[in-house]
Amino acid sequence: MNEQFRNPSEAASHAERLDRLAEVAVRVGLGLKPGQEVVMTAPLEAVALARRITEHAYKAGASLVTTLFSDEQAALMRFRYGHEDTFDTASAWLYEGMATAFKNGAARLAIVGEDPSLLAQQDPEKVSRANRARSKAYMPALNLIAGFDTNWTIVSAATPAWAKAVFPNDPEDVAVAKLWNAIFAASRVDTPDPIGAWQEHNASLQARTRMLNAKSYAALHFRGPGTDLRVGLADGHEWNGGSTKAKNGVVCNANIPTEEVFTTPHKDRVDGTVTSTKPLSYQGTLIQDIQVRFEGGKIVESKARTGEAVLGKVLETDEGARRLGEVALVPNSSPISRSGLLFLNTLFDENASSHIALGQAYSKCIKDGGSMSEDELAARGANRSLIHIDWMIGSGQVDVDGITADGRAEPLMRGGEWVTE
Ligand code: ZN
Ligand code: ZN
Repeated sequence: MNEQFRNPSEAASHAERLDRLAEVAVRVGLGLKPGQEVVMTAPLEAVALARRITEHAYKAGASLVTTLFSDEQAALMRFRYGHEDTFDTASAWLYEGMATAFKNGAARLAIVGEDPSLLAQQDPEKVSRANRARSKAYMPALNLIAGFDTNWTIVSAATPAWAKAVFPNDPEDVAVAKLWNAIFAASRVDTPDPIGAWQEHNASLQARTRMLNAKSYAALHFRGPGTDLRVGLADGHEWNGGSTKAKNGVVCNANIPTEEVFTTPHKDRVDGTVTSTKPLSYQGTLIQDIQVRFEGGKIVESKARTGEAVLGKVLETDEGARRLGEVALVPNSSPISRSGLLFLNTLFDENASSHIALGQAYSKCIKDGGSMSEDELAARGANRSLIHIDWMIGSGQVDVDGITADGRAEPLMRGGEWVTE
């Protein structure tokens, strides 16, 4: 983290870009409303960014910024020294408190930058129990976030462990500087007017979602090497992308960066074979060359070149883990894809490529889904699960067609790029 001391002109530019990222997080990411509280979570190593964000939040009129810092080394100690019987424990009290804050109008900001292989050497059984317990305890807060009851955003910070995983051959300070550069570029803060750049970007993503919503396709058909997949779309599905108007009326950008337009597939109408186009980094395991076959929405066969056992465990999480909760389209020319980097972080990697997600669907990707019961959502085809895991299926060799209600195929993407009419 010492790159700012190497030469004074770089120092200015790093500090300036960090400040712009903080401003984008508050003004574009949260769209913070004067008088709103902010609940922020951040890794210890991201304290510099957290402070920049805190300053911008107060300047934008925040009533109170509360930051919860997490320490990955402390998390590791649990797996090393915690008693075997205790891995089904989670901080339910904390998540209930967060849920209360969101219900009372607080905005949610998460800084992420986790070590992608933190838990790689730990007992997978303990890891999966701890994750399960955490997912369950987090539900009250997650439902409010996934349903956009309040405005929220996720931004990232280049932590040393993450940077070393992305750039293993560089010394730590060089790796951290390179990862920051990649984050700044992907987050559109290396331009003189980041706020304006985000407005333009949001407008172009929203033009796509308007087109797709007007088409209201019955299904998407993906074709490419090892892929021939028909993804039926949920009844009354809605495409989203770029900024979202939360239920509290605030317009926010939930992910910084974001390149995707996405919607809800029908949990029972996915058929065919699909092969992943980029490795999936899941809890420290790299799952490569995933190939699965769907029948009636459910994965009936699965294999992977590496990490197959971990993939198998994921699919056993619950009934909904074998079905899709999201399908997203991203052109192969997206800035993240062009960087050629594998970030080992979903926030970035999912925005490099068209993808699908196993597990939980987003209610906002169903028309009026926000006011529907679980049963009503399920009747439209929205999947339910404790997990939501995105994996990449797009590339420069993948074509996508939209299938109309009467069965006609219309070209949407060719060679990984949008077909423009
Ligand atoms: Zn996505
Ligand atoms: Zn997703």
